[in-house]
Amino acid sequence: MPPELMWEPTRKPQSKLPWMSQLMWRQPPRLSREGEAERPRPQTLPLCLGLTLLVLTLPLHAAIPWTIHTQPTRLLNGAPVLFQVKAPTKLDSLAGTWLGHQLSFSYSPSAKVWFALAGVSFETKPGKYTLELAGENAVTKTPLKFSSTFTVARAQYPEIKVELSVEKKFTEPSPEQLKQIDESKKVKEEYLGRVTPDREWNGNFAAPVDAPTSDVFGSRRIFNGVAQREHQGLDYRVPTGTPVAAMNDGTILLARFLYFEGNCVVIDHGQGLLTLYFHMSELKVKEGDPVKRGQLIGLSGGTGRATGPHLHVAVRWQATYLDPARLMQLSVP
Ligand SMILES: [Zn+2]
Repeated sequence: MPPELMWEPTRKPQSKLPWMSQLMWRQPPRLSREGEAERPRPQTLPLCLGLTLLVLTLPLHAAIPWTIHTQPTRLLNGAPVLFQVKAPTKLDSLAGTWLGHQLSFSYSPSAKVWFALAGVSFETKPGKYTLELAGENAVTKTPLKFSSTFTVARAQYPEIKVELSVEKKFTEPSPEQLKQIDESKKVKEEYLGRVTPDREWNGNFAAPVDAPTSDVFGSRRIFNGVAQREHQGLDYRVPTGTPVAAMNDGTILLARFLYFEGNCVVIDHGQGLLTLYFHMSELKVKEGDPVKRGQLIGLSGGTGRATGPHLHVAVRWQATYLDPARLMQLSVP
């Protein structure tokens, strides 16, 4: 039986004040027990002494513990993770470290929770990993630290052995094509490693097109007999000319042609989170443009190394590719 059902009939409100009874009655049992010291007590101790004891014990036993919730509840390699933290006291700021990455938490006044988006790289081995938190007390300005360990499980990604045929210029490029590949590589190295400090994304992530997917994140494919590394994005089966929308708010980091990616758009959502859209036939934004979730950024196509018209979408978080499908499942506070 759920604890609240067991608790309700046995625990009648003790207060003589009707409004206080209401408040106490609605509290779950754990909070009620913790708040016991604040209840009117039998007249065995003077009230002032009781209050003094309460004040003295507060710093020793924080009334509310740290609580950390994750989405998804089971952490997986290749998947994003949304950390939601409730601190024992009001904080000015909250930062964290996770798998060697720096996290900057935002506060949601409506959900009364600190949250940060992070990820677990595809290569991360199953095991236990620690999230370190460091905050600052909003009143005393003293530092507060907390850490919690999470288990990362291995995700089941499909081993699709699909033989795909692409043009020779992608598998056996000429010296001239190698030069173009190298130029594209330099652009990616220069831009994709950037981390802008402020969060621009806001709320849930939307699908870039309303269409079925044709290949998932993490699958392995064979191009002209050569096994490729795992698929680092999500493919949508869309004909050329389909409008492609920004998955969330951000700033256009890249809007240009790259050798393998074709006409591509990269949106910087801040704090190291990027979304990438490849193989488009037409670009509808310029580098530096601000964009809102759902805004048109281009038309799909089959440019670059594509086996036919489709949209490849990728999510990159601090140099790690994450599953876009799992990012869209998050419910952001
Ligand atoms: Zn793809």
